[in-house]
Amino acid sequence: MNSEYTAVTVIGLGSMGSALAAALLERGHPTTVWNRSARKAQALVDRGARLAATPEEAIVASPLTIACVLDYEALHTVLDPVAGSLAGRALVNLTSGSPEQAHEAAAWARSQGADYLDGAIMTTPPGVGSPEMMFLYSGPRAVLEAHRSALAALGDPCYLGADPGLASLYDAALLGLMWSTMTGWLHGTALVGAEKTEATAFTPVAIRWLTAVTGFLTTYASQVDAGRYPGDDATVDVQIAAIDHLIHAAAARGVDNALPELLKATMERARAAGYGSGSYASVIEVLRNPAVGR
Ligand code: NAP
Repeated sequence: MNSEYTAVTVIGLGSMGSALAAALLERGHPTTVWNRSARKAQALVDRGARLAATPEEAIVASPLTIACVLDYEALHTVLDPVAGSLAGRALVNLTSGSPEQAHEAAAWARSQGADYLDGAIMTTPPGVGSPEMMFLYSGPRAVLEAHRSALAALGDPCYLGADPGLASLYDAALLGLMWSTMTGWLHGTALVGAEKTEATAFTPVAIRWLTAVTGFLTTYASQVDAGRYPGDDATVDVQIAAIDHLIHAAAARGVDNALPELLKATMERARAAGYGSGSYASVIEVLRNPAVGR
């Protein structure tokens, strides 16, 4: 199973499943594929994939099956009728879902005698196959190690722990971070854009600023873990004064202020809870407990 060219089955050939299968083929893994709509397999067959006629035929072709369908409902629609064929094989589930769904799928796979690893893909299809891109995994480490070479063909495997729900939990947390960051960047882009600065001019400056922000995260992570927010760099009171400048500048230029107003309200709750002279990291207390500062 540690052979570099383990046979792999991919179930689900949407945008993502097709990219996964293509990356495995590219790396030289004998790859069997199955999709509800068989026509989507043609490009992969042209590149050397074997198209199975049924999910069962696909599963028994390889010691490792990677499933990537729309959601868990689709996953069970495909796999439940052929669950017995998973016995003694490994199922790596890259379908997005909740931690609870991952727990349920892990128990279901165990009950079928299958090894199960849950995963989350932290890229879009064009990034699949790049060693820069993270693939998060959770479940028994032995399953990841047994299939590491095939999984490394997809991206950099990042193991989070034995609890199968961790990959989905991190996925949700990281997507939240992505949306907050992208919306903050777009808000800034709209603000400078009101003065005729193009997004392409603003963005390199924004990216340099994000590098500084990553340093703040590292400092604040230790404060969060310690539950102490010294405020020796910038206090919540100072941040509230600063966000007023943003809100004023945006309002004066007709830019939507819902995002900064929300951020200000959250900081004000931290101040109301007694953290005005603490660091921004103290906002975690508000986020952990919706009753704090109200
Ligand atoms: P997609 O292009 O819409 O493909 C969906 C896949 O699910 C297709 O293979 C589709 O089969 C199958 N499917 C849907 N309903 C089904 C059902 N009832 N029975 C059997 N098969 C069914 O979506 P995708 O972008 O590949 O995403 C697949 C998974 O990867 C999702 O969980 C998504 O959240 C996750 N993901 C995607 C990205 C991304 O950038 N695209 C990034 C990270 C994670 P048919 O072809 O027959 O319709």
